[in-house]
Amino acid sequence: MSGEQELGITESKEHSTGEWYAEVVQKAELADYAPMGGFIVTRPRGYAVWERIQDHLDGWFKDTGVDNAYFPMFIPESFLEREKDIVEGFDPEVAWVTHGGYDELEERLAVRPTSESIITPFIADWVRSHRDLPMRLNQWCSVVRWEATETKPFFRTKEFLWQEGHTAHRDEDGAWDETMTRLDQYERLYEDVMAMPALKGRKPEHDKFPGAHTTTTIETLMPDGKSVQAATSHYLGTSFAEAFDITYADEDEEEQTAHTTSWGLSWRSMGALIMLHSDDQGLVLPPTLAPTQVVIVPIWQEDNKEVVVEYAADAAAELDEAGIRVNLDDRDNRNPGFKYNEWELKGVPLRIEVGPNEVDDEELTLVHRPDGETSVEDRADVADTVEEHLDTVYAKLYASAEETLEGEIREADSREEILGTIGQHGGYVKTGWCGDEDCEDPIKDALAAEIVMVPLDREEEPLHDECAICGEDAQDTAYWAKTY
Ligand code: AMP
Repeated sequence: MSGEQELGITESKEHSTGEWYAEVVQKAELADYAPMGGFIVTRPRGYAVWERIQDHLDGWFKDTGVDNAYFPMFIPESFLEREKDIVEGFDPEVAWVTHGGYDELEERLAVRPTSESIITPFIADWVRSHRDLPMRLNQWCSVVRWEATETKPFFRTKEFLWQEGHTAHRDEDGAWDETMTRLDQYERLYEDVMAMPALKGRKPEHDKFPGAHTTTTIETLMPDGKSVQAATSHYLGTSFAEAFDITYADEDEEEQTAHTTSWGLSWRSMGALIMLHSDDQGLVLPPTLAPTQVVIVPIWQEDNKEVVVEYAADAAAELDEAGIRVNLDDRDNRNPGFKYNEWELKGVPLRIEVGPNEVDDEELTLVHRPDGETSVEDRADVADTVEEHLDTVYAKLYASAEETLEGEIREADSREEILGTIGQHGGYVKTGWCGDEDCEDPIKDALAAEIVMVPLDREEEPLHDECAICGEDAQDTAYWAKTY
């Protein structure tokens, strides 16, 4: 038994969230720490989840006019310098290549922290007239940011996988629509695929992507009350088009400057997914993303082994045929209890138990991973039944996350109240805000909480007439939270 104990999760989600998260990631075989600080190795079970996230988004991108491309991972220093805001914004975080073999390079090469400065000049080259617009490119790749903060697998690593979209448009309207289309697709990914309710807004001016006109963001709430920036979509105005010369001839052959956007979602989304849904038994995944959706565990005695395993194998074959990702666990050297624990740890959303009773009654026993709810169903139409149960598991995960989020958005109208509320409960606190960065400082200093977003609709009246910090006229409603 002691061997089995060690396989399971020993940390508590509630009391030591950070340690518990790291343990789930490793014991569910999603990732390991690499020998260099800040890097991780993604194992097949982890990569399979990322691939499914990719598949969903990639399909939606392509349906809405985006083409995939691939640009070099190294960017000449002179390219980076053409967009001064980018260099300044990323300066301490850029990794540089200075040598090729024994020879010092004439020009240093940056390992891309993001690819605006290498992609935009090519877009400039490829765009000649208004007929070439909009141009929409995306690449799936890794980027490197030498962040000093502590490594947290998927949440914050020096090298991370992501997609970065880069588009050029005739005018502000086109580029702004694009920014919103991508933000909506990210929201859809969280809501419809990851079972995670999300908040949508824009970053305060002082927290925008370097060089952006507007940075829009998807924020999700973690169980320890901190907010995660779960994806960003930037309207870049004409700043990048000016720096890199994206001009086009309009209908009257007049030269115009394009408006550009960029948008990205990284594997931090996976980190947030794992952290939100998983529990003290291990990983919990929504069926949409689980590499294995159903595990069938046959429970036999020597005298009925053949008939039980055959019955289970038959159901597995039917599920497989219907396109459900199913695993028949008929290993001889493990008992059913061990198998249950293992598949719970690894986040399989639905378990089917099959013993002699099920065989006799032509039934199956189904157990939901998130809450252990058990039901006995007819063996006939197993694929439809399983689909229904997988939908129910998804709905349970979403409902529980939504309930948590709704209870975690509070209001405050003074500095003390913000500090007290976030200090005591975590979660989001919304207030009126004058728009001045200085008003964020006292909260940042006291609590490491900040303004994570303001609602997108600029026409909307602020929640309160006065800024909760300085008492001046409020311009916006600010959402404050601790962050990852
Ligand atoms: P940005 O280019 O800074 O707007 O970031 C784009 C996306 O990458 C955001 O959705 C972030 O959540 C994510 N991201 C930023 N830094 C990291 C990191 N060190 N590790 C993982 N994801 C990151």
